[in-house]
Amino acid sequence: MTRQRRVILEEMQIPGKHLTADEVYQRVRRRLPNISLGTVYRNLEILSRIGRIKKLHLGGGRKLYDGGLHLHYHVRCVKCGKVSDVPAGPFGDLETAAGKTSEFKILGHQLEFEGICKECQKDE
Ligand SMILES: [Zn+2]
Ligand SMILES: [Zn+2]
Repeated sequence: MTRQRRVILEEMQIPGKHLTADEVYQRVRRRLPNISLGTVYRNLEILSRIGRIKKLHLGGGRKLYDGGLHLHYHVRCVKCGKVSDVPAGPFGDLETAAGKTSEFKILGHQLEFEGICKECQKDE
């Protein structure tokens, strides 16, 4: 692992935070002033491919990266776009259930909740 990649990985370790490539770039640049956005982006793609971070495919158009590898879901505010973690615990083993009911070999799943965050609820 290159130093650049290690720094990027370190800057991703903020519990409950989900960052765009640009936000990661802003953080990493404080430590590696000469790094380019393209390099950050390329390393984020590699890190997600080798399973060190997760690339989130959420609605709303923003591509976010997640340093938290524990199984969890996400809820997205439909008003401001804020993304928060939702613990997966209460939902049980969805993939086993889907496999049983569909007779597919399940490889993965995506689940996203939509809602209105606390701050936006205040504005209503
Ligand atoms: Zn909101
Ligand atoms: Zn997350």
